[in-house]
Amino acid sequence: AMSAEEIAKELLAVWPESFEKRDEERRELPDLPNAKRGKVVMRVAPNPNGPPHLGHAKQLLLNWFYVRKYDGKYILRFDDTDPKNKVPMKESYVWFQDEAKWLGVKPDVVMIASDRLDVYYDYAKKLIEMGKAYVCTCDVEKFRDLKEKKKACPCRDLPINEQLSRWEKMFTTYKEGEAVYRVKTELDNPNPALREWPGFRIIDNHKHPRSNARVWPLLNFNSSIDDHLTGVTHILRGRDLDFTEHQQRYLYDYFGWTYPNTVVNGMLSIEGVPAHKSEILKGIKNGEYSGWDDPRLGTLMGLRKAGVTPEGIKQLIWDLGVRKNNVTITRANLEAAVKKAAKCPTFVE
Ligand SMILES: [Zn+2]
Repeated sequence: AMSAEEIAKELLAVWPESFEKRDEERRELPDLPNAKRGKVVMRVAPNPNGPPHLGHAKQLLLNWFYVRKYDGKYILRFDDTDPKNKVPMKESYVWFQDEAKWLGVKPDVVMIASDRLDVYYDYAKKLIEMGKAYVCTCDVEKFRDLKEKKKACPCRDLPINEQLSRWEKMFTTYKEGEAVYRVKTELDNPNPALREWPGFRIIDNHKHPRSNARVWPLLNFNSSIDDHLTGVTHILRGRDLDFTEHQQRYLYDYFGWTYPNTVVNGMLSIEGVPAHKSEILKGIKNGEYSGWDDPRLGTLMGLRKAGVTPEGIKQLIWDLGVRKNNVTITRANLEAAVKKAAKCPTFVE
């Protein structure tokens, strides 16, 4: 057996920093605001429209680290409600669950938003009955113009009965683009993007793998409702969605709900590796990449093929922690994390 001194020597040679900083890095993650042991509920809510990549691993693992820290509950929720621009892939639901398992993440609950459309419809109707939402049939350009001028469109103040009848017609009569369900906001909100945000739209002739529904909630709507109904207490929110909180708070205020604690969490990418699905898909089609699992890609299946271990990814995510800013790492960073995890892992589970 190696003596302690020999082990220390080897560690220093492999990853000097890890040894020097070991005590510091063994420290726990920074506390979440208002978090109580046994009472924390967190969720990871990807759109399953491609293979999970390193950025997803960051979301999966940081939430996992926190749920473990607080002895909380972990929800994996597929927010698969955009069959127009971000069409879900049938295989992707399985990929996410398989990759979570590979990383050692064990969700307590797995749920799929497209199975829950009736729940969202119920809340949509309630909101109309409360006078806080309406169905707008205005021309898009005309509506935008009115919104810019902080003016209500003619649909906004129609009687509730008329709104309910229009809501029914979204399922039976109107065609795509002819009607939009909108959540009322202050018309003079300084930020035009926050005004009268869309909650539901009609999408015809789509290729959603699980549902042939016509009326689809926008992410803000369904994710708000589900966060509340499943008792989510803390959200590590991707920086790209930071803005959505301002819109979602309208729903929470109308229903009298308490908004979860949110912590902004920057994105993670690898230098020189395509991050966008369309870019990867193009590369696969023109033969540049062998498939989703090409070892040069940042997909988890690709990284695995390139010899990256789940422990290495855990180590990397642990070391990066929660950061507001986006981070781009190099392949060398990743390789170093794999080595460190093999020799002297410092992540706490
Ligand atoms: Zn209108």
